Amino acid sequence: MNNFCKNCGTKLEGNEQHCPECGTPLNGVPEETLKYYENEEKRAKTSKWFKNSALFLIGAIIFLFVLAWAMSMSYR
Ligand SMILES: [Zn+2]
Repeated sequence: MNNFCKNCGTKLEGNEQHCPECGTPLNGVPEETLKYYENEEKRAKTSKWFKNSALFLIGAIIFLFVLAWAMSMSYR
């Protein structure tokens, strides 16, 4: 089986796991797909972080409102 590296065009025997010239993975998942999933994972983590911080912010605002209300009650 004659094959060529999609990245650099080096001729391959067909049983390499990575291109001997540039290291591009030859079997299984292409590097670009791996990068895509890596980015998706990062995006998911970021959106999770956003959700958590948004919940924290809402909690903090409610806490401040309750605190302000309690203080206004005690000053009366
Ligand atoms: Zn290559």
